[in-house]
Amino acid sequence: MFKINDISIDIESKQIVKKVNISCSAGSVHAIMGPNGSGKSSLAYALMGHPRYVITTGSIALADVDLTTLAAHERARAGLFLSLQHPVEVPGLSVFNFLKESYGALHGVIPVPEFQQLLYATMDTLGMDHAVAYRGVNEGFSGGEKKRLEMLQLLLLKPKVVILDEIDSGLDVDALKVVAHGIMRAKEKNPALVIILITHYQRILQYVRPDFVHVIHQGVLVRSGDATLAEDIEQKGYDDIIF
Ligand code: ADP
Ligand code: MG
Repeated sequence: MFKINDISIDIESKQIVKKVNISCSAGSVHAIMGPNGSGKSSLAYALMGHPRYVITTGSIALADVDLTTLAAHERARAGLFLSLQHPVEVPGLSVFNFLKESYGALHGVIPVPEFQQLLYATMDTLGMDHAVAYRGVNEGFSGGEKKRLEMLQLLLLKPKVVILDEIDSGLDVDALKVVAHGIMRAKEKNPALVIILITHYQRILQYVRPDFVHVIHQGVLVRSGDATLAEDIEQKGYDDIIF
């Protein structure tokens, strides 16, 4: 369904990720773990098509579509969704307009009242105040509010593959549960959804159980296993797993 084939990534001619292979069948949940600076975010950016993260070997395919040379918006249209580790603030662009435009670009424009109804209903499932729709995107949002907006996008935009980069970082337990609920809700609505959780810690994996865990170290995929690998990392730390 989603295949990362032999991907290597350069930033400013420096190789950051080396020949990573991950194959995701429909409906599977993957965790990508690894110490800070191992290349997890770089991999996420490159998968989404960030122009600074240059793919030097390999390919990415979603269903039968080769995404490798497509622009980020074309990858989004093919069904790829990336939630950033640090969502950007866009003052002056309301959440409502941002989501209306994104939705229209992916699924076709619908009348504003119909969109508003869809938006409010989706906000309700995440316990979000409708007033948030009229604030600037992430403008003055707390960490938890930012991650909640990421979940709102996920539920509204209905991707086929979702990559969540450190969605759990800096969240208290209540916010973490909201995020986990959002992910599980997206999976319920679309059982074929491929979920890739990039995370440092095992914490979120207690709520969203992975089928596969991959460990990246210095840009290389050094271990793959099932959910018990994440538990091993939690107990022993990365050093024991990597060396
Ligand atoms: P992780 O997400 O696993 O913590 P990153 O992908 O953020 O790791 O970083 C991997 C390596 O790539 C680090 O050495 C980091 O300094 C470098 N790096 C990441 N992004 C950039 C960038 N935009 N410019 C230069 N170096 C970068
Ligand atoms: Mg990172």
